Amino acid sequence: MDPELIKDCVHCGFCLPTCPTYALWGEEMDSPRGRIHLMKQHVEGTPLTPEMAGHFDACLGCMACVTACPSGVRYDTLIEQTRAEVERTHRRGWDERAFRALVFGLFPHPRRLRALRLPLKLTERLRPRLAPLLERLDPRLAAMAALAPPVPRRTLIPPLVAARGERRAVVGMLTGCVQAEFFPRVNAATARVLALEGCDVVVPPRQGCCGALSVHSGRPEEAARFARRTIATFERAGVETVIVNAAGCGSSTKEYADLLAGDPAWAERARALRFVDLAEFLAELGPAAERHPLPMTVAYHDACHLAHAQGVRAQPRALLAGVPELRVREIPDAAMCCGSAGTYNLFQPEAARELGDRKAEQVLGVGADLLVSANPGCTMQIASAARRRGEELRVAHTAEVLDASLRGLSPAALGAP
Ligand code: SF4
Ligand code: SF4
Repeated sequence: MDPELIKDCVHCGFCLPTCPTYALWGEEMDSPRGRIHLMKQHVEGTPLTPEMAGHFDACLGCMACVTACPSGVRYDTLIEQTRAEVERTHRRGWDERAFRALVFGLFPHPRRLRALRLPLKLTERLRPRLAPLLERLDPRLAAMAALAPPVPRRTLIPPLVAARGERRAVVGMLTGCVQAEFFPRVNAATARVLALEGCDVVVPPRQGCCGALSVHSGRPEEAARFARRTIATFERAGVETVIVNAAGCGSSTKEYADLLAGDPAWAERARALRFVDLAEFLAELGPAAERHPLPMTVAYHDACHLAHAQGVRAQPRALLAGVPELRVREIPDAAMCCGSAGTYNLFQPEAARELGDRKAEQVLGVGADLLVSANPGCTMQIASAARRRGEELRVAHTAEVLDASLRGLSPAALGAP
């Protein structure tokens, strides 16, 4: 934990109302200011106690406090350093260690996720009945089962999707882990939209994890290994710009040079590649393909790692506003996290559930036909919270909405299970 970064906090408290855990519990030590105070105590010599680790674990890493802070405190860097310190020095209970081993041994590994498709498919109908048993065994297992999306048909994207019409750019595309296996429609829509807008899209096969999960969970060495592999993959593909369509992956790939700062040669290679969010890239490129009307109302949800961590708020809204007959509604308290936050809803299911319930209530109150977001975790989390209220929420990624408009599809094609 960098003491110089800790010193930047002037304890003004402007960040407090934006913090989801402070909103839930009203505890100073579960606010950004309180957590920075705990970091200060630790760098000044106080050993890391289980209570302190608990307050750090309870942080969603949503970065709403970074947006809100008028003093420019780099809470994002501080919490990453702190999580790494927690993982190094704090001994977790056996059950916690076992659950973490399961999550980190599974999620960043596309092949293992692929192997899970069949058992998930076979138990799809059984899962609601198993929920009470899993809840008794371990609420984290119940959360995992409840959040698992329906298993979709596999969609293979060719290694090159050629530009339609005049070629305006050549880009690479990151396919991701969970996104590739459980939301293949989003990747397929992303590639089509880019191609229709005049881009050659290079999609290297056998991509691995980008390291987002590891870097956000205090596992920087593992994250660096994933980052090096991702950089090498896109260097071999011969592209300079890489499009990322999942918010968490977008924020971590943009920070590769910082992650690899201890290895100057790799940091330089990271700087030579430009990782960019899909909406950010399309807004820069400008529209070329014809937009067909989509007569429907959508609610746009800001994924924290897109809005707070990357500052991408205006671009997706502008892209949606450019679709004829599409009405975009704002969700109240839009800056507040939905509780998904990477693996937060698995490790901290009670808090995540409460935040998800609040968000679902606000989303349903908007009365839109479809919820649009740029992060699969958010859409799973909010849809699952809506189901607890007995409502089926149609959800889609920004890329799917644009794809439907460019191809002249009907609104009914969006958000179907
Ligand atoms: S990252 Fe989010 S949850 Fe963590 S302290 Fe900041 S606002 Fe609170
Ligand atoms: S993190 Fe920023 S907003 Fe929050 S108390 Fe410190 S200086 Fe104030």
